[in-house]
Amino acid sequence: MKIQVDEEWIELPEGSLAKDAAEKKKLTGPDQALGVSINGSLFDLAAPLKDGDKLHFLNFSEKQGKEVFWHTSAHVLAQAILRVFPHAKPTIGPPIEQGFYYDFANLTISDADFAKIEEEMQKILDENYKPSRHLFKDKKEALSKFKNNPYKVELIEGFEEGPITAYEQGEFFDLCRGPHLPNLGKIKAIKILKVSGAYWKGDSKREMLTRIYAISYPDRKMLKEFLQLLEEAKKRDHKLIGQHLDLFSIQEEAPGCPFIHPKGMIVWNRLVEFLRGLNRKADYVEIKTPLLVGQQLWERSGHWNYYRENMYAFEIEDRAYALKPMNCPGCMLFYKTRTHSYRELPFRVSEIGHVHRHELSGALNGLFRVRSFHQDDAHLFMKPSDIKQEILGILGLVEEIYGTFGLEYRFELSTRPKESIGTDEDWERATLGLQGALDEWGQPYQINAGDGAFYGPKIDIHIRDALGRSWQCGTIQLDMALPEKFELEYMDKDGMHHRPVMVHRAIFGSIERFFGILIEHFAGKFPLWISPLPIRIITVADRHREFAFHALNEIAARGFIADVDDTAESVGKKVRNAQLLQINYMLTVGDKEVENKTVSIRTRDNVVHGEMSLEVFLDALEKEMREKALNSSLGNAHAGHHNQ
Ligand SMILES: [Zn+2]
Ligand SMILES: [Zn+2]
Repeated sequence: MKIQVDEEWIELPEGSLAKDAAEKKKLTGPDQALGVSINGSLFDLAAPLKDGDKLHFLNFSEKQGKEVFWHTSAHVLAQAILRVFPHAKPTIGPPIEQGFYYDFANLTISDADFAKIEEEMQKILDENYKPSRHLFKDKKEALSKFKNNPYKVELIEGFEEGPITAYEQGEFFDLCRGPHLPNLGKIKAIKILKVSGAYWKGDSKREMLTRIYAISYPDRKMLKEFLQLLEEAKKRDHKLIGQHLDLFSIQEEAPGCPFIHPKGMIVWNRLVEFLRGLNRKADYVEIKTPLLVGQQLWERSGHWNYYRENMYAFEIEDRAYALKPMNCPGCMLFYKTRTHSYRELPFRVSEIGHVHRHELSGALNGLFRVRSFHQDDAHLFMKPSDIKQEILGILGLVEEIYGTFGLEYRFELSTRPKESIGTDEDWERATLGLQGALDEWGQPYQINAGDGAFYGPKIDIHIRDALGRSWQCGTIQLDMALPEKFELEYMDKDGMHHRPVMVHRAIFGSIERFFGILIEHFAGKFPLWISPLPIRIITVADRHREFAFHALNEIAARGFIADVDDTAESVGKKVRNAQLLQINYMLTVGDKEVENKTVSIRTRDNVVHGEMSLEVFLDALEKEMREKALNSSLGNAHAGHHNQ
């Protein structure tokens, strides 16, 4: 029979399995052929083939490949736990962004147990089991097999009708949908990362389980690199840096709702000014819609039906209200406040919208996962023929914004899902509009077929930070539902009313989260233009205070933020303190500087630029600021000099 592997056709004997095709293609490395997609569905390598099948073998560099790898590794963890702690009850063990976890009932462990568990996991890997799939006759058979584990029983009882499968590796048997690695020998390195508590089914009313996080790789070197990255990421943790630089705080009284401190507001305002400037240039208008809106709006928008669980809703004077979880419905009401002519389309409406969405308290994480945040939102209303051009305009903003921070980015296009509203014609026009813009933009992009929302296709934007970590921030979403629900119209040349096409877009996404990403991306060393404290003047002795404050006034008059450290500490100590606060420039003033009317300049990276007139220095800074430069405009000519 003939089988297609990626683009190539190969000949295989009748009755061949996917693994035979992998062997024929020599995809036998530990990072290759981890699972297989056959005609678009995922299977184990033991899956039988038939003539004409289209195959793609998953490798570790692919998201789905990692998922199979890490998911199989979670079974290894559970198997090891049961060998060391036979009374533990395994519940669920999914892959996550980086690695996997497994939740256990009836288990209490600490960091001190990690080595023992890792040793057992290594033993299991050395035993090199080939996980095999078991298909139950029916629910009853599955239930009887797992009757000693109430958690698995609850899972099985909750399953919809359909095949129920389990996997077996050695003495270990676990309920699972698969697919799994063909053999455990592909796992060359496995390590436990941490242990924490987690509620069964994420429900705080249910029992607390023990969650073990771990990670595994097809190569020992990859694990080593990951652990180094983890160390670096710990040092850059935005919660630690945020506290150290006094940028923001989270208070017990308002979980998930960050307090932005004065220094944080300097960064925040720069970010928002940057956005507003770009929006103005791209011909957007700006609005502000209320946080508190009556239930009928949410009913009309569909949020009340589909998003209620994430909304903060309450009654006031016998009327039901909710805090807005999204800005769109408010913007729809704004659009409808007057009639619109084709002449004013495309009509681009931006809003720095403050939204509230409920997150479980256990999921909250600094600025990354919050309940209260601001979106750099915008809604663009256009004629169908404008789609491509408008998307190109947004891609231009994406480049301008992420490029300014030195963030690489890539696009993913998600197309029509099985369940969707709108006609074939609407979908084709919308998808071609998005795709046409991406093609014209020219950067390679990934297509997630069938992954769009039911109301339209979308482009997700993923950025890569300085540590190579990927974050999804921006999104561009075409919406065929809201204009319909709100009966939006514009009057065309022909005097007839038409429905505009609407696009939602956000580029930072959540400003809070983006702020957190920037803190970690820059490790607290903000470029001058968004620096919370760009300049500090350091006095050598008390007699230099007058000159220092005179310099401060001049600096402030040129629009820069600065302060003076006139404490009694030594100059060396004051410089170190300023460097720990990641202040961009330290200006020391002593006898020589007072006499020459200069300042001696040093950077947070201890580059000594020596004496300079304040005016020359501020001219250079103005340029650095205007260009939103990522690095110091003074260069690093004297790097390493420590003479004062
Ligand atoms: Zn599994
Ligand atoms: Zn929206």
